Amino acid sequence: MSDERFDVVVIGSGPGGYVAAIRAAQNGLKTACVEVYKTLGGTCLNVGCIPSKALLHTSEIYEAAQTEFPAFGIKTEGLQLDLQAMMANKDKAVTELTGGVAFLFKKNKIEHIVGKGSINGPGSVSVALADGGSRTLEAKNIIIATGSDVTSLPGIEIDGKRIVSSTGALVLDKVPGHMVVIGGGAIGLEMGSVWLRLGSRVTVLEYLDAVLPGMDGEVRKSFGRMLKKQGMEIKTGARVIGVKTTKAGATVTYETVQNETAESIKCDIVLMAVGRKPYTDGLGLEEVGIEVDEAGRIVVGDGFETNVSGIYAIGDVIKGPMLAHKAEDEGIALADNLAGLTGYVNHDVIPSVVYTMPEVAAVGKTEEELKEAGTAYNVGKFPFTANSRAKTNRQTEGFVKIIADAKTDKVLGVHMVGSDAGNMIAEAVLAMEFGASAEDIALTCHAHPTHTEAVKEAAMAVFAKPIHM
Ligand code: FAD
Ligand code: AMP
Repeated sequence: MSDERFDVVVIGSGPGGYVAAIRAAQNGLKTACVEVYKTLGGTCLNVGCIPSKALLHTSEIYEAAQTEFPAFGIKTEGLQLDLQAMMANKDKAVTELTGGVAFLFKKNKIEHIVGKGSINGPGSVSVALADGGSRTLEAKNIIIATGSDVTSLPGIEIDGKRIVSSTGALVLDKVPGHMVVIGGGAIGLEMGSVWLRLGSRVTVLEYLDAVLPGMDGEVRKSFGRMLKKQGMEIKTGARVIGVKTTKAGATVTYETVQNETAESIKCDIVLMAVGRKPYTDGLGLEEVGIEVDEAGRIVVGDGFETNVSGIYAIGDVIKGPMLAHKAEDEGIALADNLAGLTGYVNHDVIPSVVYTMPEVAAVGKTEEELKEAGTAYNVGKFPFTANSRAKTNRQTEGFVKIIADAKTDKVLGVHMVGSDAGNMIAEAVLAMEFGASAEDIALTCHAHPTHTEAVKEAAMAVFAKPIHM
């Protein structure tokens, strides 16, 4: 095989692409990964999951030091924010983790080709190298893992100064006096929480009647109330129609859905968080005839193959939730398939987590979805106010809600709001993956004292009574 011939060429090194490349190489396939940037890891490691979680963690400690430490008997006189150091800590996490992917590439003998990839047709990828020049790679299999990019509203340009995307919100050099967040999805609420904790006034404008669209209705309502209690201003039923910027700040105009009047808010920084769009610029999809849907997502079949043989796509660039773990699992499944093994992703059981405080986590169906489908179900709920560990830690906000089939008791959905919900949801995911009933969870021994006992008690509440309530 010549240097330019590969079994697999992956375009994009986000969690979809780099994980697919590693698994392909582990499976003995000669693999290259084309990535525009010198650092690997894509949106997730560079400007997404990792830096946002670094700032969420540190801002949470900072806020806790002011509001919670005294109750624990810890005095915090002279507490100060060093934003530069906080940002440096975030950058360190990114550098270490992207460096970790580079190490894994070397270990698995994956060639990282730095440049922009485009597809010439089945079996051929051209790369405009970042350092100049180009290369043409022969590839038995091509995997498109080019991810997604920020999106804006019509007529509103993200200028990176007054109007920022999540990427800009991760690198602000001072705490804004007033930040308006457009969009009450996960990204808007996470980044809004960071700056709220660091001292900004934060106003969220959300078009729908509650934050976190797609999540369980009860969770959305009670979580919205919790954020308001923290001081986040949330205006629902507010459709943003324009933003004007000046040297001094910005004015955001929105229409209220209820009475269709236009109102405006002055602020220092606007965070545009109305979602992301699949990124396929310059890939050559049209020329090759690769089908995309009305949302610009690459259309794939069950095995992630596009309508062009030998060309596959995974991650944010195809349908499904734009989540790192979904992209990773698709990467593993596809790389196994390409090696003649059996790869599989159960798209019905993909957890989603919002890393605010408290966290919100969910897997499976919401009550609204089940009602619409006409499925009869039972609900069991257990509040953290009755969980001993949560009480000890003074983190009693939230609850666990389990929804099970009324006839079979099979768990159909689990929804949680709570300080440790992001970790706790794993149990529910595993239970659902194994087709567990609520009774199975209730009969499973859970360690005491842990937050996870709330899952067991919610499961008991589906068909009987919980003990501690
Ligand atoms: P990406 O990670 O987007 O990677 C695509 C890569 O392809 C990029 O590096 C890009 O430079 C490269 N590329 C594109 N075109 C080309 C080309 N032609 N040639 C070469 N390279 C190319 N998800 C979670 O699960 N949990 C979270 O906590 C979470 N937090 C997030 C926070 C923020 C602020 C954001 C923005 C996103 C967050 N996400 C989170 C979403 C997550 O980042 C994405 O779902 C995930 O990165 C998608 O992975 P991917 O591999 O499909 O694409
Ligand atoms: P997500 O897609 O989860 O990142 O969330 C984006 C959020 O932005 C959703 O809750 C949308 O309802 C919201 N949104 C979209 N357009 C507007 C708009 N014009 N004004 C206010 N909110 C919006």
